[in-house]
Amino acid sequence: AEAFVAAVEKGRGLNAFVAETPDHALAAADAADAARASGDLKPLSGVPLGIKDLFATKGVQTTAGSRILEGFTPTYESTVSGNLFAAGAGMLGKLNMDEFAMGSSNETSGYGPVISPWRRSDGGNAALAPGGSSGGSSAAVSARLCPGATGTDTGGSIRQPAAFTGITGIKPTYGRCSRWGVVAFASSLDQAGPMARDVRDCAIMLEAMAGFDPKDSTSLDLPVPAWEATLSPDLRGKRVGIPREYRIDGVPAEIDAVWDQGIEWLRDAGAEIVEVSLPHTKYALPTYYIIAPAEASSNLARYDGVRYGKRVAPEQGGLNDMYEATRAAGFGAEVKRRIMIGTYVLSAGFYDAYFNQAQKVRALIARDFEAVWGQCDVILTPTAPSAAFGLGEKTADPLAMYLNDVFAVPASLAGLPAMSVPAGLDGQGLPLGLQIVGKALDEQGVLDAGLAIE
Ligand code: GLN
Repeated sequence: AEAFVAAVEKGRGLNAFVAETPDHALAAADAADAARASGDLKPLSGVPLGIKDLFATKGVQTTAGSRILEGFTPTYESTVSGNLFAAGAGMLGKLNMDEFAMGSSNETSGYGPVISPWRRSDGGNAALAPGGSSGGSSAAVSARLCPGATGTDTGGSIRQPAAFTGITGIKPTYGRCSRWGVVAFASSLDQAGPMARDVRDCAIMLEAMAGFDPKDSTSLDLPVPAWEATLSPDLRGKRVGIPREYRIDGVPAEIDAVWDQGIEWLRDAGAEIVEVSLPHTKYALPTYYIIAPAEASSNLARYDGVRYGKRVAPEQGGLNDMYEATRAAGFGAEVKRRIMIGTYVLSAGFYDAYFNQAQKVRALIARDFEAVWGQCDVILTPTAPSAAFGLGEKTADPLAMYLNDVFAVPASLAGLPAMSVPAGLDGQGLPLGLQIVGKALDEQGVLDAGLAIE
């Protein structure tokens, strides 16, 4: 714990942490010493973790990457962070992230971008994005500032940053991890999950994070399997689906090469490889970018200058002017864009054309997956259509930024478990990730395939 506390201090240049809580981590280490002496060690005793700033942490400022929550110190602990602490873990600090988890590069954060610890081999010292929205988590784990971190994934925010920084991250089945105390972005999609150095560490962390919580109405009332104890890279008797719709134009050849390599590794592990079709894949991105902003526009209505954090009260005017001034000053450009898109697609005149239609297409995308589970046990795809891009490279073009989520959002819309594992480097020496998508509740199948790749 002391070594990681020192690493966090040394790594401040990455801007991965928005708050440091060394005392919390050191207290957990002391508790672990006592537990060891009394033969009472827990699964994560003394392990110092980073916590994404989307998780409410009791007594520790929680901003969700937004200036509108500056100064908000929860009086309660999110279920997931509480579960980790109950399993013995400590907290090194709160991790930077895209504002309200909206973004793919950590550049929408109200607290400045996170800088990836990676560099292109011929790129001089040009700073790269750590991915997003869990960019503080990915950078911190990748730079070894912490052995593991929490992330959240609404449309790829665990998997894409994991891929960009050469680490491992899994989004479990929707409902496995409680959303209670996790600042809401798009509630029908939001899922917490671990980001760590390898598959085994992810399995250990996920076991601690997951579990039924009566305080979240969409929490799954199911026992948490012993994923780590039954991990196995032996894939004999398993079938791996390769969806042909994920071979899309404009993706660098290196991404396809890593995908082909992953297929070979899974074949070597004993799996049978089958080509499958997910015909509605091309509608997933537009569907996601209707549903997620719609839910966000509703969830973000609560930031009114009264209930949480920042308040800007003009000298003249009434309550509405205070709402307006607070939201104008507190929200960044991407969040405002999402609120406008979401409000538009939910408005009376356009609800049927956009939101209602997107809900129907979402069901078709989920049915695509249902249909292929007769042919395969897990699906293998690239995690993202590119390696890490440079800071500033996509900020002027929101559509280019959204396109980076193309492979991640289908599993989110279908609520399925999905993981990214590091699978190789591109010609610039940057990490590339492969994604494994599994059946609902089959985190084990996803973790096992990931183990066979790593
Ligand atoms: N990049 C996607 C977005 O901006 C996904 C974010 C997430 O998963 N939280 O919405």
